[in-house]
Amino acid sequence: MHPHLFTPGPVEVPHSVRAAGAAPLVGHRSEAYFALLEEIAALLKKLLRVSQPVIAMPSSGTGALEALAANLLAPGDSVISFSCGAFGDRFREIASRRGATILPVDIPRGRTATPSDVRRALEQHPGAAAVLFTHNETSTGALTDLQACTSALPEDGPLVLVDAVSSLGAVPCFPEEWRIDGLASCSQKGLLTPPGIGIVALSERGWKRAASRPSSSYYFDLPLHRRFLEKARPQNPYTPPVTLFYSLAEALRFLDGIGFERRFADVERTARTFETACESMGFSLFVKEQELRSPAVTAATVPEGRAEEMKRALAELGVEVAEGQGKEPMLRVAHYSPGGWPELCLVAGSLYGAGRACGLELSPDFLEPAWNCWKKGACPQ
Ligand SMILES: *Cc1c(COP(=O)(O)O)cnc(C)c1O
Repeated sequence: MHPHLFTPGPVEVPHSVRAAGAAPLVGHRSEAYFALLEEIAALLKKLLRVSQPVIAMPSSGTGALEALAANLLAPGDSVISFSCGAFGDRFREIASRRGATILPVDIPRGRTATPSDVRRALEQHPGAAAVLFTHNETSTGALTDLQACTSALPEDGPLVLVDAVSSLGAVPCFPEEWRIDGLASCSQKGLLTPPGIGIVALSERGWKRAASRPSSSYYFDLPLHRRFLEKARPQNPYTPPVTLFYSLAEALRFLDGIGFERRFADVERTARTFETACESMGFSLFVKEQELRSPAVTAATVPEGRAEEMKRALAELGVEVAEGQGKEPMLRVAHYSPGGWPELCLVAGSLYGAGRACGLELSPDFLEPAWNCWKKGACPQ
């Protein structure tokens, strides 16, 4: 039996997506590949509800973030950086290495930036060139309300750059509607594809900025990627991981087949049910405010010093989850993989078993409340 992946990337990948990646190779300057890339680009635009081109290129999520910094920031730019955890800190570091002057705003872990935080930061730094947000802070399981945050910014204000690495494909994420100028993501989380493809979406304003000066990165030169994508026969500037692109196309077809709205509702329903199961068992959730809890990743607090042991006990049962990335003792369980009540019982029941194997006092009566939550059906977004 292969391990059941409930890690926040990589995730359980549908069989059809893995099988697509096992197809014979084609050349990346062949008609078959041009058609594939065209389909991927169209499905990504549909998922994000954007009119501007979306770039898919070889990299992990971090590479996509680096592409934003290389193309949209310049040395000496003042950048307001909201961070509510490990990934906010990483994006900040990437911008800092680009030579930006960082104006840090640290939000307590387990919480997220709010419109009033945004207004206050802009009052203090009216000349900021860009603002950095993390959509889904995977290290704590907190989801930022980006739409609310960006509506606190003037239309001609700083560029808005977003780490959507762990939200795209699992949580509604609409950069054009939310006035986001640069969005970075990856293949191996919400998009149900193996790791290796980075996704970048820029606004019209973002593309203008990128065109106004050369990218500091040769490989991640976004205007170059766009020029190749917009050729009569769409392609990548450099040799792409062709079989991974097969898998990505299949995963996007799979998600589109479910319906993107339905997919977001399914992920949310799974998270809310899992939260109920955790709390009924006796775990507390790291994110205290219900409305900030991520539909993609749940962080459950475990007793001090027990996280590693719990993670190992789960692995022995065949279930992979993640530990915390900070000092807090927690387990992080992701809800990307398609599934329903049986998969939920698998992870919740395994968590119970692992906790008991580690000698924790847990209530076995978590199924009834979880079932009642599940029965309510998909929660409205
Ligand atoms: C996973 C993750 C990253 C890093 O992605 P890689 O693909 O590992 O480079 C960045 N930001 C967030 C929010 C993530 O969850």
